[in-house]
Amino acid sequence: MAWQCSGKTNSQLINNLFKNAIIKHERVKKAMLDVDRGDYCPASPYEDSPQSIGYAATISAPHMHANACEYLLPYLHPGSRVLDIGSGSGYLTHVFANLITDESSPTTSSDGHVIGIDHIKGLTDMCNTNMAKSESGRQMLASGKARFVLGDGRLGYPEGGPYDAIHVGAAAELMHPTLIDQLKAPGRMFIPVDAGGEDGVRSSSIGLRKSQYIWVVDKKEDGTVEKNRVFGVSYVPLTDAPREKY
Ligand code: SAH
Repeated sequence: MAWQCSGKTNSQLINNLFKNAIIKHERVKKAMLDVDRGDYCPASPYEDSPQSIGYAATISAPHMHANACEYLLPYLHPGSRVLDIGSGSGYLTHVFANLITDESSPTTSSDGHVIGIDHIKGLTDMCNTNMAKSESGRQMLASGKARFVLGDGRLGYPEGGPYDAIHVGAAAELMHPTLIDQLKAPGRMFIPVDAGGEDGVRSSSIGLRKSQYIWVVDKKEDGTVEKNRVFGVSYVPLTDAPREKY
């Protein structure tokens, strides 16, 4: 269970997530063991809870990162294109980059890449700084396997697509059709959406605190789209860029 997964070290945390079957696959376990959450999280990095990273943003809880990797795993292979919307600390972007790295030849360049997008410049700068703390992160930045861009993630990032996998790290008011357009066929998106916005239309009860659900959106090989609501969550919202200059 999530709240029992905290550890004193990165490996304790990841092993606890595995023991509690939140991490189910060895590939996810290895990809998360290979990224020290301490490089991305300024305080209590091995607690299984969200933590503040400044700029009114949080790094999500480790069990949510694990869940996202598990759901997207079938679409994460060498050569995959991945978009991480609301990249925040940059942690999950790094884990995704591990998941698209060929174990047998990690430095071989391929078409695959992970793009992290955030709308706060201080955070995209922080993503680069955090990732450059490790040798693997520096290599991924240098090769272009991972990179960070500034922009409104609600619009996606068509220049880097179409994507095998899209991860959205903040709650969307609606299931943005433009993000589904940027999925490859086949491709999968993991997205938290406010209740009522799942059909791509903003729900009418504006201003009310709504419940949110993770949706797994599959674009099939023939282009048809299937949406499945998987569990309830509590994410910070996907918003307009803040007015103050960070
Ligand atoms: N996956 C990140 C989550 C960070 S919190 C992590 O675990 O570190 C959510 C992030 O979404 C914040 O960094 C916030 O700045 C970003 N965000 C919110 N609205 C956005 C938007 N419209 N476009 C891009 N990023 C957005």
